[in-house]
Amino acid sequence: MTTMTSSKRAHAWVDAAYAALSRDRTFLLRDQQVDLSKAVADAFLTAVPLAAEAPTGTGKTIAYLIGALAASDVLGENPVQPLVVSTATKALQSQLFEKDLPALVRAGLVMANDVALAKGKGNYLCLTQAEEIRDLLNADGQETFIDDAAAAVDPDQLDFMVDQANARRWDGDFDTWTHGRPKNVRSIAVSSDTCTGKKCSRYKDCTYFRARGRLGGARIIVANHDLVLRDLLLAVDGETSALPVANYYIIFDEGHHLPEKAIAVGAREADLASFLRVLPKLSGIQAILKGSPELTKQLGAYNVHIDDFDRKPIGGPLDELTTLLNDIEVDPDTAQRRFMKGELPPNVELQMKVLLAAMMPAMLVTAGTLAALRELTGLPKPVEDKATDLGRRALDVHRAFKELSECISMMVAPGRRVKWLFRKDKALSLHCSPLEGADVLGPLLWQSARTKGVAIVSATLRDIGGFSRFKSRAGMPDKSKTMVLPYTFPYRNSTLTVAGMNATPKMAERKMFMGELALKLPTAIDRKEATLILFPSWAMLKEFVPKLRYQFGEDAVLVQGDNVVPVLRKMHTDRVEAGKGSILVGTATLAEGLDLPGKLCEHVIIVSLPFAVPTNPVEQELSDLLGKEYFSKRSLPDAMVKLVQMVGRLLRRETDRGRVTVFDRRLASTSYGRQMLEQLPPFQKIIEKLAA
Ligand code: SF4
Repeated sequence: MTTMTSSKRAHAWVDAAYAALSRDRTFLLRDQQVDLSKAVADAFLTAVPLAAEAPTGTGKTIAYLIGALAASDVLGENPVQPLVVSTATKALQSQLFEKDLPALVRAGLVMANDVALAKGKGNYLCLTQAEEIRDLLNADGQETFIDDAAAAVDPDQLDFMVDQANARRWDGDFDTWTHGRPKNVRSIAVSSDTCTGKKCSRYKDCTYFRARGRLGGARIIVANHDLVLRDLLLAVDGETSALPVANYYIIFDEGHHLPEKAIAVGAREADLASFLRVLPKLSGIQAILKGSPELTKQLGAYNVHIDDFDRKPIGGPLDELTTLLNDIEVDPDTAQRRFMKGELPPNVELQMKVLLAAMMPAMLVTAGTLAALRELTGLPKPVEDKATDLGRRALDVHRAFKELSECISMMVAPGRRVKWLFRKDKALSLHCSPLEGADVLGPLLWQSARTKGVAIVSATLRDIGGFSRFKSRAGMPDKSKTMVLPYTFPYRNSTLTVAGMNATPKMAERKMFMGELALKLPTAIDRKEATLILFPSWAMLKEFVPKLRYQFGEDAVLVQGDNVVPVLRKMHTDRVEAGKGSILVGTATLAEGLDLPGKLCEHVIIVSLPFAVPTNPVEQELSDLLGKEYFSKRSLPDAMVKLVQMVGRLLRRETDRGRVTVFDRRLASTSYGRQMLEQLPPFQKIIEKLAA
């Protein structure tokens, strides 16, 4: 039971930590940082989740780290549980490692090796798999099985990678490989399906286990939302955790992404066309076993028998299901057919259940085969070669079976889900997704005994209705606490102008709007400045960019999609530093996480309020379910969060100033627009009169 005393002790720890930090003259203490630290500490001590909105410049990262460390100190768990900081972007991870964590180290609050970055297994080279595939690729004329993905790996590059990893000149993390990302890393990456752990002869050199070992002693583990949610999911499914964390105390920074990340983690899809291609490999496995009595005998001891790999019981139900799915009409534009309210046609649902039952024996036997092969050691060389060949086929089949069975199981299970079919040319796939992030986050965060403390922090969690929409989408318990940190930047020194446009970007007025925009937008641009222009859609961006390039020159207009964002940013920076001015153009997605301080961004132009049209099946399902309320309950709150992100690109440092121009007059002329305007940071707000 948490007492007042533990809260007081944590708060005293927080005060002492800030006193230590303040000895560093470069550290600027803000009162609201202390408030956030104490709120995070209390959230962890009381197990009452916290959602905190902290605008850019409030020093939220240091604040939540101190709060979490204070709680950890007071809780005094044995063994000490690492704190997990989860981010949505690599940019924030870099900021943590380059700026915030070194400040804590300088203040003596943590040691440099107390902090570690965690990445998923798929990020690392598996030496055993890589060497095996390299040998197969280099084998001259040998009749060995190699799947399509592995066959696409460049043998020279693979050779080089293995050498570098063996010589410890490369840590085996694909992100740090600087010689061009190899194709199909999945076949050479670490995987639970193939890893034999401590039994592996390369265990001591293993890139993944060495990286994981470094997490062992860490007090703070930095990871991304995807990895953390998948790790929590493993525990719910009764599998071994990927992170060395028994009790989770988590801070989700950039937490506004959490509901949508949870939907992605909970979604399943299965490619029926490739499953059909994989199925004959069961016969290949039978052929290997027939040709190797010794291997058959060895596997028999593990209850793996040749007849279990019979594909006939699966072929019939699969053909039947494929025929039924091929008879379903799909939308000619999207090639999709969504099953309204998740209701499958009864004959399809029945056939899915039949197929699922038919697949089970083969699924169990491929899993059993992989487990048995991990156990079998010391086989004579020819038998070992056969075992390797068989193992690769079994793995290929097992992955395809797992994908299809997980997707179908989810589709036929009770509960609200979004289900759809995609069919185009020879492609045929099934898709099933949670409707809301809350459906996934409930069991992972709010009802899990393993999750002890959760704080969700972001610059944009609220919308017009406050925190209620975010809390509902994330499924946060009613008892959760919320807090809002005040703005610290001097917004009054900058302006936000709603341009006097006659037409709005609504579809009915779109043509007129684009014509008017072509006249007015270029006049708002100062070609010597750094300008960021954000369009609501790719279609509008593509229509407008040629006009900008014609007027300002090809080189001056840098467009999202022409290069990856870091390259675009560099080109933009080079131009600005050379005094040439630069116009960076993108959609709302470019606004997310883009840091352009000072002279790098003096003018943000927002072409339209970022109302998204529900195009993906999950949003379409929500739109159908909510009907007329979709606008107020979904579209408007989402647009508000995006708009805050967009205007947030202007001021990145205390000394920044500049202007925002919004070419969508609905921001001033409609009641919902005025509510949005009011909730934006306190710029000097200017509403231009309409032209006569
Ligand atoms: S321990 Fe596992 S991941 Fe590491 S090299 Fe061996 S099989 Fe690969």
